[in-house]
Amino acid sequence: MSQEDFIVFGSPLIEEEEIQEVVASMRSGWLGTGPKVDRFKDDFKAYKDASFAAAVNSCTAALHLCLIAADLEPGSEVITTPMTFCATVNAIIHAGLTPVLADVDPVTMNIDPEQVEAKITSRTGAILPVHFAGRPCNMDRLDEIAKKHDLIVIEDCAHAIETEYHGKKAGTFGNYGCFSFYVTKNIVTGEGGMVLARNEEELDRIKMLALHGMSKDAWKRFGDEGYKHYYVTECGFKYNMMDIQAAIGIHQLKRIDAYWQKRRQLWQRYNEAFKHLPVTLPADPEQDTRHAFHLYTIMVDPERCGISRDEFLDEMTRDGIGCGVHYLSLPEHPYYQKTFNWKPEDFPHAMQIGRQTVSLPISAKLTDEQINKITTSVEAVLVGEHSGLRMA
Ligand SMILES: *Cc1c(COP(=O)(O)O)cnc(C)c1O
Repeated sequence: MSQEDFIVFGSPLIEEEEIQEVVASMRSGWLGTGPKVDRFKDDFKAYKDASFAAAVNSCTAALHLCLIAADLEPGSEVITTPMTFCATVNAIIHAGLTPVLADVDPVTMNIDPEQVEAKITSRTGAILPVHFAGRPCNMDRLDEIAKKHDLIVIEDCAHAIETEYHGKKAGTFGNYGCFSFYVTKNIVTGEGGMVLARNEEELDRIKMLALHGMSKDAWKRFGDEGYKHYYVTECGFKYNMMDIQAAIGIHQLKRIDAYWQKRRQLWQRYNEAFKHLPVTLPADPEQDTRHAFHLYTIMVDPERCGISRDEFLDEMTRDGIGCGVHYLSLPEHPYYQKTFNWKPEDFPHAMQIGRQTVSLPISAKLTDEQINKITTSVEAVLVGEHSGLRMA
């Protein structure tokens, strides 16, 4: 098999318009934060029906900034899910706060509100739900809990650009919403992120913190309106998005619904192809919600499949198909074990998902031929055509 035939997990669909837009940015010489970032931010706001947005260079940066802007007491506890990317919890730690995990629901794989409530102490300052795979969390219950205990809510919407819950868009619940345009996400800018906030003051603070803590006009200091002095008013970060990134995002965003439709169809096709296999398929989307179909995950239970999850991954790789694991639960990682004394067994649902889950490719870029290859391989690996390999 040649390198080119290998199906790279999460490989994005990049089209001619964004290639031309990036080239135009390069030729213009305006590479950094400028008019294209402004346009991408405005288009994104319109897409989300949101009033206040700031473009940054990653979702990790977005989370970090919101956690700082939330102005919690140092060391305050932030309750989040063990079934997320490490960035979620690292952002909490870098903001000088203490991550606390609440286990997920085994079916939705989203944070379980009852577990959240059980973890609340006098030091709890915020809840940080992640809309896993693009399926919305139970925001009614989480909002209720947040109100009752006076907590900030920050949504990690890295999987959930298109997600809606009871008619409301993900990232517009609670206090802040954070988005990712990393290469494997539903739309991409290479690296990139966005913050949605609820009012102008908070947004200004986030924008300022994203650019070294320099006063507002610093964003325009190289424009044609004459030199402007800037003043550093807080110790900020270097988290601004570049025009080169926004050049990609502007065109990706125009196709967000077309890509979503493709992934939705692929999701249904996988459901149909795998319904007779001894694996657990992802739960159907809930009524009155919109699933973003960011990940298609199957559970490979060695008891039912006669093959371990890691063997399954190896055999898919041998067949030329790159799969993902979203995620080993956070307590599986040595740093968190050492630092917070977290143990996988204390979050049994997340532990089990993390040890059995496989994400199959679901990019809008996949061709019919590739999709057939994936469904054929999954079936062959699970019904034992590869059993010779397994015994070897
Ligand atoms: C990708 C991801 C992030 C981080 O996004 P970046 O833009 O790469 O910083 C955070 N949380 C979750 C759940 C993610 O999947």
